[in-house]
Amino acid sequence: MRLSQTISNKRIYLSPPHMSGREMKYVQEAFQTNWIAPLGPNVDAFEKEIAQKVGVNEAIAVSSGTAAIHLALSLLGVGKGDTVFCSTLTFVASANPILYQGAEPVFIDSEPDTWNMSPKALQRALQDAFVNGKLPKAVIVVNLYGQSAKMDEIVSLCNVYELPVIEDAAESLGSSYKGKPSGTFGVMGVFSFNGNKIITTSGGGMLITNDKILAEKARFLATQARDQAIHYQHSQLGYNYRLSNILAGIGRGQLEVLEERVQARRDIFDLYYKDLSIVNGIQFMPELTDTISNRWLTALLINEKETGIHANEVIEALAKENIEARPVWKPLHMQPLFHDCKYFRHSETEDVAAYLFDKGVCLPSGSNLTPEEQSRIISCIKQHTNEMLVKEG
Ligand SMILES: *Cc1c(COP(=O)(O)O)cnc(C)c1O
Repeated sequence: MRLSQTISNKRIYLSPPHMSGREMKYVQEAFQTNWIAPLGPNVDAFEKEIAQKVGVNEAIAVSSGTAAIHLALSLLGVGKGDTVFCSTLTFVASANPILYQGAEPVFIDSEPDTWNMSPKALQRALQDAFVNGKLPKAVIVVNLYGQSAKMDEIVSLCNVYELPVIEDAAESLGSSYKGKPSGTFGVMGVFSFNGNKIITTSGGGMLITNDKILAEKARFLATQARDQAIHYQHSQLGYNYRLSNILAGIGRGQLEVLEERVQARRDIFDLYYKDLSIVNGIQFMPELTDTISNRWLTALLINEKETGIHANEVIEALAKENIEARPVWKPLHMQPLFHDCKYFRHSETEDVAAYLFDKGVCLPSGSNLTPEEQSRIISCIKQHTNEMLVKEG
């Protein structure tokens, strides 16, 4: 019997919720005051607390990160016939709202330093769009697994053409770029509080901005676009996107421990790094100088030539041990849903996102992961990378 089978085989999830114990107080307040509604004191307070935490004027609590992205596009007037640029290496939710608006996504490759939007690819895409008289209505920049994109380069390129940037910071709450909080670099930023994110409301999101007028319009659109009248009057298309007052209570209790959650995930990364970076052919997702990643998920690359094992086989081996690991997001330009969309590579010869997808693995990174669980994961990986090497020899 293998050693790994004699010890606990309890399921280890990729990124499960981690309650602080402070949530119930706010949830109970909601019940006691009967604010069981998509508005109320917890919603108002949660918005203020998030705005304060990242240093913006306005935060609008909504039912999901996807809804926040959709609102952002709607507020910028994105519609039929428009294009929107978007990072390719991301979850589908970054780009789906482009389709909701009847617009067309154009995907931009990653670069190797951050795994995020390549300024080189963006520049070529912008030049191409400019020459063809078809500049995008907006640019959606994603901060993958907590690592900020190269915001200085990206924002200044977008400024040349006066294009609004939407920062999809769904995975990067608590991270920073050159001392400035992640999510605050575009005209609007987006956070997600889905169950797997660094803090959660079970489901929820936040749109943030410094622009008071955009914030007012966002609240209006998110509550069915009700005109001011005692009867129900509507002159614009709206949505039912506001966050429940109960869930906002969970968010308040979670936000109080955000810094602890970031530290825990960074510690988990450090331990993986300490034990696995010595394996030939394993390379970790970098952290750009002057940035702090919340290390939402620890991601690494497995070079099959050196380790003798493909990333997907490592994921399978972990699955056999009841451990949930995942490939890096499948790039959106490779998804059947988007097969007609334009795509700009990092360079003529390099499709960085496709490379990262082929070799990338995301390891369990929940802030409640125990040292025992983490050593189960590490020894499984070591065992398989070494086992295969022996076979090769
Ligand atoms: C989770 C996520 C979203 C969507 O957030 P939801 O709250 O699940 O709708 C958007 N973009 C990225 C990059 C995400 O990881």
